[in-house]
Amino acid sequence: MRLDKLVWVEIDPDTRYVVRIFKSQKQMVLQMPYAECGTTQQMLYKVAVWDVRHQCWLRSKGECELCGDTVTEQSGQMHERQHRGKGGEISVANSVFVCAKTHKREHRDREPRWSRHDSRSEAA
Ligand SMILES: [Zn+2]
Repeated sequence: MRLDKLVWVEIDPDTRYVVRIFKSQKQMVLQMPYAECGTTQQMLYKVAVWDVRHQCWLRSKGECELCGDTVTEQSGQMHERQHRGKGGEISVANSVFVCAKTHKREHRDREPRWSRHDSRSEAA
C-alpha cells in the first residue's frame, strides 16, 4: 500500500491512538458496524502505521516480545501474530514488537516444509 494513501482506522477513545488499520471502508463497516462517533477516522497510511508501531513499542517496554532481547524503537520490527490473509487489517492486537533475529527466525519457521534443508544438522 502506498504510504501517502488515505486509510480508515480505529481509534482508541481513551488514548486517541490508532489501534487498527483497515484495508478499505467496506472492511471497516463489516468489522465495526456499530462504531461510535469518533472511534473511526481517515488518515494517511504512513501516520497510521507509525502510530500502531509506536504503541507496540511502548507495550514491549524495550524488550523483544518473543525472546526478551533488548530492542529500541528504531531496531525493533513488527511481526504479525496471525497472517492477515484476506481480512487485510493491521492492528496493535495482531502485532508483536520483535528483534531482528526473532523476526528472521519466525519467518524461517513459517516456510513450507519442502523448502527446508534439514539434512545438514541430521548428518552431524
Ligand atoms: Zn527476539
